[in-house]
Amino acid sequence: MLKENLAAVEQRIAEACARAGRSRDEVTLIAVSKTKPVEMLSEVYDAGTRDFGENKPQEIRDKYPQLPEDIRWHMIGHLQRNKIKYIIDKVCMIHSVDSLRLAQAIDEAAEKLGIVMPVLVEVNVAGEESKDGIRPEETEDFVRKISVLPHIHVEGLMTIAPYTENPEENRPYFRNLSKLCVDIREKNIDNVSMYSLSMGMTGDYEIAIEEGATMVRVGTGIFGERFYPRAEADGRV
Ligand SMILES: *Cc1c(COP(=O)(O)O)cnc(C)c1O
Repeated sequence: MLKENLAAVEQRIAEACARAGRSRDEVTLIAVSKTKPVEMLSEVYDAGTRDFGENKPQEIRDKYPQLPEDIRWHMIGHLQRNKIKYIIDKVCMIHSVDSLRLAQAIDEAAEKLGIVMPVLVEVNVAGEESKDGIRPEETEDFVRKISVLPHIHVEGLMTIAPYTENPEENRPYFRNLSKLCVDIREKNIDNVSMYSLSMGMTGDYEIAIEEGATMVRVGTGIFGERFYPRAEADGRV
């Protein structure tokens, strides 16, 4: 069943790329596997997926040793500084940098390992009280501040758009984030590349692709609904 879900998502990504005149290989599908057991991740891996996203550091720490080494793990959720140690040697990118202190702590942890960690800056596109992220108008300044840290590399922007029944409502937010990314790119800030745009989830990834997403994060559309209480009872979260 997961294989069919994945194929359906792939099909819709290809169609969105075609509508936007983009090549399919400009967009990376990240399978968001939070709360799901490793058996389900294995199934999706066997169907060809190599990029997986998790929003809890402990979950990456626990799943990582149970799955193939060529998986690219993406940290997509809120990250506390004291949890960086669980993931710094396991993830290919941290999508959720939203404070100078967090960026500094990632930089320090990366330095200890002798690596440079690719990061995205999380932007709160709709100014929602409940969401993390930098305000759009403060993003360039924030990017400049963290760009001096030598063990992180700022590669772009990420957003979690508002929940909505009608994904068209999120189009302006995606368009604005794309524009912000280009505007910052054109400033040619040292140690900043701004070619990655992580936006779009199950409800709105096709719109996000039409507006320039280079990474979409799809959970429910591949793995089905998440049942948090059950998962907790199973000791999975
Ligand atoms: C859970 C999650 C997703 C995936 O959400 P779906 O609606 O299930 O596709 C994407 N991004 C982040 C940051 C998430 O926490």
